[in-house]
Amino acid sequence: PAQYPLAMTPNDPGWNELSGVKGGPRMNATFVTLARNADVWEIAKSIRSVEDRFNRRYNYDWVFLNDKPFDDTFKKVTSSLVSGKTYYGEIPTEHWSFPPHIDQEKAKKVREDMRQRKIIYGDSVSYRHMCRFESGFFFRQPLMMNYDYYWRVEPSVEFHCDIHYDPFRFMHENKKKYSFVLSLYEYFETIPTLWDSVTKFIKNHPEHIAEGNSMAFLSDDGGKTYNKCHFWSNFEIGSLNWLRSKAYTDYFESLDQDGGFFYERWGDAPVHSIAAGLMLKKEEIHFFNDIAYYHVPFTHCPTGEQFRLDRKCHCNPKDNFDWKGYSCTSRYYELNGLPKPEGWQDQSD
Ligand code: GDP
Ligand code: MN
Repeated sequence: PAQYPLAMTPNDPGWNELSGVKGGPRMNATFVTLARNADVWEIAKSIRSVEDRFNRRYNYDWVFLNDKPFDDTFKKVTSSLVSGKTYYGEIPTEHWSFPPHIDQEKAKKVREDMRQRKIIYGDSVSYRHMCRFESGFFFRQPLMMNYDYYWRVEPSVEFHCDIHYDPFRFMHENKKKYSFVLSLYEYFETIPTLWDSVTKFIKNHPEHIAEGNSMAFLSDDGGKTYNKCHFWSNFEIGSLNWLRSKAYTDYFESLDQDGGFFYERWGDAPVHSIAAGLMLKKEEIHFFNDIAYYHVPFTHCPTGEQFRLDRKCHCNPKDNFDWKGYSCTSRYYELNGLPKPEGWQDQSD
């Protein structure tokens, strides 16, 4: 990223020459947010943060998706805040409901059981629809079909450092398909049989498993069991064409048939992460150390003081989660043979 100029706007001389991309520097990419009308003021904060730190200079589009129609307030407020074009999509019922093969009684018993065991979102039907939608459908919505890359943004998130280059272009030029800023362990209670399903998929579809993948990020015993590591999917920049590929589609359909979105409470984070870990080459997954980010309760604050000063960061480096015990990011470093950045020890407690 250092080769990109600092703080340019599309109006600055040299923008197009430096881009090296015919037809203008911007990628075919969009922000995407799934939200309810009631989320308007929390997504407003997220948008302000994205615009302040990045998009006011790049003006990328923003697609909003909802299982209900967006109301006028939501549309007015968000379209006034986004510097690019805004689009509003309503999710079709088939993408936000129980598929026919699901046993409703069984699913209901699971929710009641999880409510008693106080498993987070364990009793929620809508949360399950959300996880299934983010796992298998957001990238196939008609509004998303025109784009190659997406950047997922949730309500109430914050970006703490200036972003002086285009992460979409970075993805494209470096052939990255998936990226993350935070990684951690999943609650086992939400995914007890997810790895069994994955194992079955691997057996049925060996052709989709990449050579030189990141299995070592996901499993400590060569694939026998899942270590629960996953990339936190509330932040993602990724390739839509990868998610729309035969490999990913077969994977999602296989998992969906097994019913764990409803008989357990599979999250889209482990579902995406396992897909990326097994079906991409390890070099195709990128860690954006330079994108500082907060989603309750975790912060990614870049390691490296000079970097934080140059990019006007406003996060406390002590809050950085990367090198703490519950993060999986050091596994990613080890697997990829990356040296840990200078100063990581200062952030490990
Ligand atoms: P958490 O981050 O796992 O605690 O879950 P969130 O409440 O942040 O939900 C994840 C994403 O899905 C956010 O972008 C929410 O706005 C969105 N979301 C969650 N539930 C619903 C829902 O019932 N309808 C819609 N339209 N969006 C939802
Ligand atoms: Mn969230």
